[in-house]
Amino acid sequence: MKIDPARDFGTRECPACACDVPANSNRCPICGYLFPNPSPARRRFKIAAALIMLALLLALLLL
Ligand SMILES: [Zn+2]
Repeated sequence: MKIDPARDFGTRECPACACDVPANSNRCPICGYLFPNPSPARRRFKIAAALIMLALLLALLLL
């Protein structure tokens, strides 16, 4: 059985050169395009949203 290392993680298309880049790689091996990594920012946004919801809930309870 042939094991393709790119198959484990899938591929995504490079927006700069439109070639297939391994999804686990954050840099295009062809043109060097750096993919933005959205996961940490999204997690921070989730925490901020939860804090705002908590503050709103507290404000509603205190009013
Ligand atoms: Zn590229």
